[in-house]
Amino acid sequence: MTRRRTNEAQTELFATPVHVEPLDPKATLGGSTRVERLWRVRIGDGGGTHLVFHDRHGTYCEEHGRACRAVRLVVNP
Ligand SMILES: [Zn+2]
Repeated sequence: MTRRRTNEAQTELFATPVHVEPLDPKATLGGSTRVERLWRVRIGDGGGTHLVFHDRHGTYCEEHGRACRAVRLVVNP
């Protein structure tokens, strides 16, 4: 796991096109959402599209949780 993360980080830095788009949580999820911040992260080269949430529990990907590389791109672009 640790080695794999290191390899992914290097790939992101030097080769993978990434698009991070901030969204309005209330407009996207509804006015009652407790999500404070929201991003749509597109990762090229087959990395797909990820919805990343930030709320009182922390920052996490809708599909993959905290370990998702999209989370790291949002927190530390
Ligand atoms: Zn993800």
